[in-house]
Amino acid sequence: MKHLIIGVSAAGIAAAKTIRALRPDDEIVMAAKDKEVHSRCMLHHFIGGAKSAEEINFAGADFFEKNNIKFLADEEITAVTPQKNCALGARSGEITYDTLLITTGARYFIPPIQGFREAKNVFGLRDLSDARRIDDAAKGAAECVIVGSGLVGLDAAYALCERGVKCRIVEMEDRISPLQLDKTAAAPYQKFFEEAGCEFYLSKRACGMEMDDAGNATHVLLESGERLPCAFVVVTAGVRPNVEFLDGSGITVDRCVKVDDYMRTNVENIWAAGDVAGLSGIWPNAALQGETAAKNICCGCVKYTDRYAMKNTMNFFGLTTLSLGPNSAEPGDEVIINECRTSYMKAIVRDGRVIHLTIQGDISNTGFWQELVKRGVKVRKEARALSRLSYADFWNCDEKSGEYLWAK
Ligand SMILES: Cc1cc2nc3c(=O)[nH]c(=O)nc-3n(C[C@H](O)[C@H](O)[C@H](O)COP(=O)(O)OP(=O)(O)OC[C@H]3O[C@@H](n4cnc5c(N)ncnc54)[C@H](O)[C@@H]3O)c2cc1C
Repeated sequence: MKHLIIGVSAAGIAAAKTIRALRPDDEIVMAAKDKEVHSRCMLHHFIGGAKSAEEINFAGADFFEKNNIKFLADEEITAVTPQKNCALGARSGEITYDTLLITTGARYFIPPIQGFREAKNVFGLRDLSDARRIDDAAKGAAECVIVGSGLVGLDAAYALCERGVKCRIVEMEDRISPLQLDKTAAAPYQKFFEEAGCEFYLSKRACGMEMDDAGNATHVLLESGERLPCAFVVVTAGVRPNVEFLDGSGITVDRCVKVDDYMRTNVENIWAAGDVAGLSGIWPNAALQGETAAKNICCGCVKYTDRYAMKNTMNFFGLTTLSLGPNSAEPGDEVIINECRTSYMKAIVRDGRVIHLTIQGDISNTGFWQELVKRGVKVRKEARALSRLSYADFWNCDEKSGEYLWAK
């Protein structure tokens, strides 16, 4: 049996390991645009100079050799033809398979702002080749502009600060990392970044740029009229799934590749996992989906159940924040805040269920919160001194309603 996996990131590598463990003698081929395996989550360490490309290879240098896997590096798959059980590689031509797993993830998106798609020194940040381009641009650069202050934007800012590059960060919301943080939770991070030399332009939008004769951006222009000087620009304005190569294949794509609970596509011997399947946008979920798909490819009938994607942990300058669920209260929601000098905790309770939780400071022993939010467990009114709750408070689970019963 020959298994072809497209992609060598979180989902692809987890799948390959699983197939190899379950089917020691099967043939495994992996093809990817990436030239080397690397962790996207560690790109800021590469840009900041703390880790080399080898050190962010999360699979290990001898992964392919050790697992008897053929790796086609720098190999873009441009088409898939299920009728012939083959994929088309830009370098290798037709690659046949018995089973195909698509783990092509996503790529960055540059919005159609005047000059942004044309200038030579505007970069996104998704993979090691982007990180290398930013690393090159940062050499000798005094200042840059970062558009977007989500987790990827802050990763880039953190790394570039380490390099001594002044970052001006433009964010259209009124606080940094707006998807995860409210104003209170965002404030200490903003202060840390400012102390490290960053400037924030909040509630502002980029609307264009000035370029020199060589086609490089020299200034980013804001709708407010400001002109921000820059040696280069990093844009972190969201991602798009890598699905275009499936056009005409018959594999159902609805923005992302459509999969069922077993990570199967609509085509019998083709699976998809990770960000390309659109169930989540975080590393551990991509890896778990890859593993689940691989188990189903080999034998089992294993369901992927963790569809809860709204979970983020961030750690900058030694301050950690866990954010679970959508951080926006609606009329009628109860917002509970516990704040002290060293920690901040906020819960949004809707119809008796905690739908959002922010914990900033000590996030140890918060596993049960994740279950509480993920499962939509009802928390009784008298139990809502939230910061004092622990596993011990939930002593039983009502079999009919699935509701955790609070002991007191
Ligand atoms: C800077 C950054 C920081 C992040 N930090 C975190 C974090 O701290 N925690 C967290 O949980 N998540 C983080 N994420 C998100 C996380 O990296 C992704 O959820 C994860 O990488 C998804 O893995 P994947 O295997 O689905 O796809 P990807 O990582 O996107 O990999 C896709 C693979 O497919 C290949 N590919 C794509 N198209 C083709 C094609 N046509 N032909 C051949 N090969 C192709 C690529 O080369 C690559 O190997 C971060 C992401 C970025 C960009």
